[in-house]
Amino acid sequence: MAFALGSPTAPQTGSDRDDDAPPWVPPELRLVCLDIDDTLIDFTAAGRRSLEALIGSADAWHHWELVTDAYVAKVVSGELDYAEMHARRTQAFLAERGTNVGLAEAAELETRRKELLRESWRLFDDVLPCLEWLVAAGVRVAAVTNASGDHQRDKLAGLGLARFFDYVAIAGEMGVAKPDQVMFHSVCFKLDCEPSEAVHIGDKLRTDAIGARDAGLGGVWLDRTESAEDVPPGVHVISSLTELPELLVSEFVRVGVPAQR
Ligand SMILES: [Mg+2]
Repeated sequence: MAFALGSPTAPQTGSDRDDDAPPWVPPELRLVCLDIDDTLIDFTAAGRRSLEALIGSADAWHHWELVTDAYVAKVVSGELDYAEMHARRTQAFLAERGTNVGLAEAAELETRRKELLRESWRLFDDVLPCLEWLVAAGVRVAAVTNASGDHQRDKLAGLGLARFFDYVAIAGEMGVAKPDQVMFHSVCFKLDCEPSEAVHIGDKLRTDAIGARDAGLGGVWLDRTESAEDVPPGVHVISSLTELPELLVSEFVRVGVPAQR
C-alpha cells in the first residue's frame, strides 16, 4: 500500500538509477491535519436537529448544505464576511422554500438555531484516543476547516479539544478553502513542514482526501458510513479514527516514537 506523498523522493529504477544516490526512505511524519465537522464532531446529526427546529422538518438537510456551501464560497471570495453570512444564508434558504423573512428575523432564527446546535454538538467516540496518540507520537496537529472562525473555535474549546492543536486553519480567515492546495500548503508552511511530511484526514472524499493528495500530502478519507464509494489511487480510506495510528505507522518512519513537542 503506497501512500500518496507526491514524488519528490520517489525511488529510482533501471538505467536512471544513480548508484551514488542515497537509498529512498519513507518520509518522516511531522504534521497531521484533521477536518473538524463530521470528522471530529458529529456535525450532521446536530445540524439536522437544529434545522428541524428551525423549519419543523428534517427533510431539507441536503438543500441546507447546498445553500451553505454557496454562502461559504461568498465569504472565501471576500463578498461577505462571516458576521452577516449566516443570517443571509438562512434568509436565502427560507426564501427558496417559499418563506420570505427580513434579515433581522433571519438573524433571530439563526441565533436560536445556533443555540440548539451548540447544545447538540458531540464528539465521535474515537476522537480523544486518536488525538492523545498523535500528541504522544510527537507530531504536530492542525485543524483544517472550511467553516467559520469563531464558530469552529467555540466548538473546539467547548468540547475540550483546543489543547490538542498547534494550529487551527479556517478558510474564511485565509481567503482560500479546501480542496484548493493553497489551503493545505499554507498550513504546512505555518508549521514548518513539507507537504510530503504531512497527512490530512477528513470526511469529504473530494474536499479533504483528494484535495490533500493533489497538494502533495497524504490524503485519508474518513468514510464513517462505509459507503463503498470508488476511491481514486493514492487515497487511503479508514472507517474510524481508531484505524489511523496503524495507517500512519505503516507508511512513515519514526511515527509512534514519543518525542519532545
Ligand atoms: Mg467535514
